[in-house]
Amino acid sequence: MTDQSLPPLPKTRILYAGGPEVSSVAWGMWRFGDVDLKTARARVDAAFEAGITFFDTADIYGCDMPAGFGHSEALLGEVFADAPELRGQMVLASKGGIVLGTPYNSSREYIAAAIDASLVRLGVDHIDLWQVHRPDILTHPAELADALQTAVGSGKVGAVGVSNFTSAQIDALRSAMDIPLVSTQPEFSPLHLGPLQNGEFDQAMQHSMAVMAWSPLGGGRIAAPKTDREKAVASVLDSVAEGFGVSRATATFSWIAAHPARPIPIIGSQTPARIAEAADIYKVTWTRKAWYDVLQAAMGENLP
Ligand code: NAP
Repeated sequence: MTDQSLPPLPKTRILYAGGPEVSSVAWGMWRFGDVDLKTARARVDAAFEAGITFFDTADIYGCDMPAGFGHSEALLGEVFADAPELRGQMVLASKGGIVLGTPYNSSREYIAAAIDASLVRLGVDHIDLWQVHRPDILTHPAELADALQTAVGSGKVGAVGVSNFTSAQIDALRSAMDIPLVSTQPEFSPLHLGPLQNGEFDQAMQHSMAVMAWSPLGGGRIAAPKTDREKAVASVLDSVAEGFGVSRATATFSWIAAHPARPIPIIGSQTPARIAEAADIYKVTWTRKAWYDVLQAAMGENLP
């Protein structure tokens, strides 16, 4: 056997043991923006039409635009108020713990208040997955564990995860918790290989944690490569994309999801036609060689 195909990506998976079924791709609302209800609804509809049932937001999304902190959740809240049936059709993830100017707070009191505020903005009584957005070095893992367990115990949150934590921080938090820490959300793309190399993916597989990959296109750089490295990665991705009749972005999402940790790429585009391309991710089958070709282009060197 000279080459071997990797297992096909299932269209859905169970997020965590006993948890909800989600699409193998998510759609994110960091760039949801200062738009009207009709535009917001068109984006949400495009995600649903592409088979996406997993939606990721955060309380801080909107802080980089005039509408400010909380705007992205509030806009999704407007979409729900206009079409209440949509809430039940998605698995909703949000995050909190970044405080503008501080910069982080994961104290017991802050987390309880942040979750309550998110529920109000979203106009819902339950968030399926609540994630600590960034590690707060000044909160002891035991206090954070207690805050997260209290949130799950209250029924306001279905499960809890983390984002941008180191593996050591994940270990410390896990060992303080009596309930599972179900997910981690690192940056991951061919332009950001950190969790592949620093043990985070291995840790997630060891403990059956779901992985959500943020900025899967490197924040758009894979779609518009500028540096030699970005161009080399794009060229290898294009050869696979052409073979399956899909876009480079779609080939990138499928490359991410082909890793055995089954990272869930969080698509960041706010353009309905680009969101729609997510449906094509399942058309791509990776061979070991093609997958490693992308990795080696991304590393800028061949593996030994
Ligand atoms: P991304 O998919 O890497 O980048 C999306 C950007 O690329 C958009 O501005 C999009 O523009 C642009 N783009 C250009 N050409 C494109 C093409 N052909 N296809 C698709 N997009 C193209 O993702 P991201 O927005 O940086 O991040 C995705 C999600 O990850 C966020 O929404 C958020 O949920 C999550 N996130 C989490 C963290 C964290 O700390 N946990 C940090 C950042 C992001 P258009 O919108 O104009 O299409």
